[in-house]
Amino acid sequence: MENLIAEAADIIINSNLTLALTGAGISVESGIPDFRSAEGLWSKYDPAEYATIEAFRANPEKVWNMLREMDAVVSGAKPNKAHLGLGELEKMGYLHFIITQNIDNLHQEGGAKNVIEYHGNSRTLSCIWCGKRYGVEEKRDQFPPRCECGKILKPDVVFFGEPIPADALNRSFQLASSAEALLVIGTSAVVSPANTIPTVAKQNNATIIEINMEKTHLTDSITDIFLQGSAGEIVDALVREVKRKGSFRP
Ligand code: NAD
Repeated sequence: MENLIAEAADIIINSNLTLALTGAGISVESGIPDFRSAEGLWSKYDPAEYATIEAFRANPEKVWNMLREMDAVVSGAKPNKAHLGLGELEKMGYLHFIITQNIDNLHQEGGAKNVIEYHGNSRTLSCIWCGKRYGVEEKRDQFPPRCECGKILKPDVVFFGEPIPADALNRSFQLASSAEALLVIGTSAVVSPANTIPTVAKQNNATIIEINMEKTHLTDSITDIFLQGSAGEIVDALVREVKRKGSFRP
């Protein structure tokens, strides 16, 4: 593992455009369960039943029961060593953008500034009928939160069946097309179209460094360096190695 970390650190130090693509696994050590966990939120609320736009349109009250529990978990969560490490890597000039599938804001809380929220975020709520938008705090005391038009509001996270925000989609594609290194952290890479980002980067000859507890379908196909373990431990070790070898870069 030490050799692999050293190899990955060299690639990051020598890359002119390094991206990280992150998924639910990076926030597991912050106490937010991923879709894979046998226990927790997603064993109670099947994402296929609750996290689709059709489900929201048909029965927003029912979906809000899940969202309320999710909000309780997410709003109490703090960034872990992986979020903090990526924030530090960005500050040092070795990580240029994070493309996250998460909606938990933990990259930003961990100090990262260049974060592309591929699946939106949970800080704002919108009315899918009249288009009005609200900050989540404005509606904190209302359950389920309602628009002034009377309809139930939806958080600005991308539900299954909804399009990816155009800015995030285009920007991510452009960046992946010119990346020299891509860190793929804590994602099963099964949710489309986010899972096309590693392939696009690979087509540009980017080196793919994958960090995950388990192998994914990327591991034996396009991953160049597989660092198996928890995101917190591995990112921490990687950042220490980059610091040891590299210097701050403007
Ligand atoms: P996923 O649940 O499909 O896969 C999670 C991956 O993380 C798995 O490959 C697993 O092996 C790995 N993993 C679990 N714990 C880990 C750890 N400690 N260290 C490293 N790897 C670990 O998640 P996905 O690929 O992101 O796709 C699910 C979708 O659901 C995404 O859109 C995601 O944003 C969303 N989601 C978000 C959150 C959040 O915002 N924190 C939580 C759950 C689901």
